[in-house]
This record gives sequence, C-alpha cells and structure tokens, in this order.
Amino acid sequence: MPVQIYNSLTKKKEVLVPLQGNRINIYSCGVTVYDRCHIGHARSLYVFDVMVRYLRYQGYDVRFVRNITDVDDKIINKANELKKTSQEVAFENIQKYYEDLESLSIDRADKEPCATENIPDMIKHIGVLIEKGFAYVANGDVYFSVRKFPSYGKLSGQGIEQMHEAVRIEKDPNKKDPLDFALWKKSKEGEPFWDSPWGKGRPGWHIECSVMSLKHLGCETLDIHAGGRDLIFPHHENEIAQAEALTNKPFARHWIHHGLITINGQKMAKSLGNFVTIQDALKKFSPDEIKMFFLGAHYASPIDFSESAVKEAGEALQRFDVLFWRAYELTKEKDVETKEADFIKKHREDFFKAMDDDFNTPQALAALFKLVSDTNKYIDHNKSDRDYLNIVFTAVDTIEDLGRNVFGLFLKEKERSLSEVEELLLEERKTARAKKDFKRSDELRELLKNKGIAVEDTKEGQVWRWI
Ligand SMILES: [Zn+2]
Repeated sequence: MPVQIYNSLTKKKEVLVPLQGNRINIYSCGVTVYDRCHIGHARSLYVFDVMVRYLRYQGYDVRFVRNITDVDDKIINKANELKKTSQEVAFENIQKYYEDLESLSIDRADKEPCATENIPDMIKHIGVLIEKGFAYVANGDVYFSVRKFPSYGKLSGQGIEQMHEAVRIEKDPNKKDPLDFALWKKSKEGEPFWDSPWGKGRPGWHIECSVMSLKHLGCETLDIHAGGRDLIFPHHENEIAQAEALTNKPFARHWIHHGLITINGQKMAKSLGNFVTIQDALKKFSPDEIKMFFLGAHYASPIDFSESAVKEAGEALQRFDVLFWRAYELTKEKDVETKEADFIKKHREDFFKAMDDDFNTPQALAALFKLVSDTNKYIDHNKSDRDYLNIVFTAVDTIEDLGRNVFGLFLKEKERSLSEVEELLLEERKTARAKKDFKRSDELRELLKNKGIAVEDTKEGQVWRWI
C-alpha cells in the first residue's frame, strides 16, 4: 500500500508520489536558538525523525533539511539580558540543541543550515522579489506586499480580512498594508547586521526558510514541508508567498503539521512556571519513555504532557524487555536462522498498514505489542515445533528491527556494563526473593533504581534494564 499523508494545504489525505524518481525532499522548520529546547521541540524533532525513518525504511531516498534560526529578535533580547553578543547566545544554544538531539537519540537532519550562513542567498532572493514587484523598500526595511500575491491565505484557508483580525498588527507607517511582512529589517543600534543594497540590516524570519529549503534541497518544489501547527499562519503562509512569487512553481506538494503540546492541560509558558526543557524531562525519564509517550498519540493531535502520562506510556517498555530477555535466554549460544510464521507476518503487515495511513503510530505501536504478546504465547505453547527457536528469533528480530529502525527505540547504547557492586546487589535481590524476604528485596529494588537500574519480576525470574 502506498504511503498516504494528510495534506494541510488540500485538507485531505493524499498518496505520497515523489516528484522526482524515488527521492523525497523534506524540509522542517527548526529551532530558534535563544534558549534550551523544550519538550514541545522534542515532539517536533521526534515525529519528523520517525517519518523520515519510516520513508527510508520503505526504500525512499529521503533528503531531509532542518534549519537553525540563529538571528532573531528573541536572540538579540536574550543577548542584551545576558550581556553577551547574539552570536555567543546562538552558538551556545546550538551546542545545547545538538546535545539534546544526541541525548534523545534523534538523528540530525542531512543538513542543518544556519540562517547567518545563507544571508547572500536571502539578499538575492529579496532583490528578485523587488524586481518582480512583489516587495518594496521603505526606510531601510523591505516588505513583501501580500496583496500582490493573489493566493495569499491558501494554506490557512483565510481571506485577507480574517487575517487582518488574526494578526492585529500595529499600524506601521512603513507598511502599505498591515499584513505585509518584513523580508529585510534595518538594523538598530547594537544589533547584528549585514550589508545589503538597502542598507545595513538582517533578514526576516520567514525568508530564511524559503531560501534555505530551496537552496539546500536543490529544487523548486519540495515534496514535503513540515512544521508545528502554530506555524501555519503567518510563517508558512509567508514562506509560500515568498517562494512562489520567485519560482512561479508550487512551493511544497505536501504540508505536514504536528499538533501542539500542553503541560498538565495548560499552555507551556515561562510565566506559568511550567516550562519543561528536554533536559528537565530527561532527568525523570529515559529517551525511550519519552518516545513511547509521543508514539501513543497521532502526530497531528494535540498532546498533554504530564509525569503520570509519560510514566504510564513508558511502563509498556517493560513488555519489550521481558520478551527480549526470554528470547535471549532461549536462543543464546544456539544456531538460529530466520523463519517466517503467519502471526509475525500479520502483525508486521498491520504495522506497515498503520504507518502508511498518515503515520498512525498509535496503531502501529498496537500492532507491535500484539506481536509481543503472540510471541510470548508462542514461546509458552509451541515448544515442540520443529522451527521453535527460529520462529522465536525471527519474531523478536522483527520487533527489534521495527522498534529501532522506524521508531528509533532501543538505540541508547548501554553506556557501561554492570559494576561488581551492582551485580552483587542484583544477586542479593534474587536470593532475597527466593527466601521470600520481600522487605529486603524491595529495599534492593530502590537501591538499584537509584543507580539507574530498573528491576522487574517475571514468571521466569528477575529482569533488569538501564533507566
Ligand atoms: Zn520555517
């Protein structure tokens, strides 16, 4: 079955047909580096990581570009607050952003261009928009004239009047229409600037994305443009206007928008004291627990982050661990080979069917867990099968393969092996349970937990994993 994606532009599910051979060019709006990334960024980074992984898994030649906005009002304000230069603030936060990706085991995009590295291209693009009559210079600023672009509003499905209400832009004497947006901003005292035909200044945020996507993907129409739902208007609307005014071609075939995150039912805001950075979340949860939480909701749905919700989603990981451990015990030091069985095939196909249907991860995850429970049943009831071990091996291999390569789970390398003390504690707990000394075994579980080791008791005995 082909992959179908809900397209925010046409408001319907459409088959993904690459514009060029087997290649899929994807662009996602990235972070503005003025602070540490928060859990909402983690969702954006992860849902697109899973989409890219899945398309690659299905054999597409995916090229993925995600930008970094490293010049912006927020960065300048932060720099003033910290008495640093905006380059310093951007540089520090870019390093932290890469640390976040690494600690979540989320891949970097193929290219992660910074806005400040692409200024000459932006100046060129703006120059053409002026020449073509889509943009005008006013007192050192350059604005895009939205009324010159007749289909302005097609992504957000709004008319000009509605948009006027939505933005409530203050009257700016330089603008011909309040909806016109800045392509180039004249620099104020103490702000970073670049020379341009219109004087010293810096690019607006929207032009960065139009320029970097087309340049770094090397095409005039992207297969997929991705971002958060909050970016549809005005950011993506403006990206379309800028790009299409330049090329006369559709800017992106599919527009994908992920749903937003709330924290315990509230919008996340520093002023509300509920701002959760990725590093805060990682103090309490493993990357896989956070990923399980995200997988449990469709990417387009809103999601409410709470400690109990992540904990609950993460607990299901134990089911993988127990099965992996059972299979390991059965197959270690044995010669095994791949052997398909009907139940494996069925659940694998259900997994693909769910992912093909607009990346329905909750359903795909359910298929994976059905495979887990059927494999456990198979282990219990089919010991006399001629291919018993081969089928156990194949089922578990399938789960690991899909979990790792599509969902990006099970990637965290075990940073270290057990220390001698930890091994002794695990042994002691085993003995305590055997003697039914539950008080001691509970104490030991707590002790091990503090060392980052989760212990669970199963039919086959004690199982542990890193947390
Ligand atoms: Zn963007």
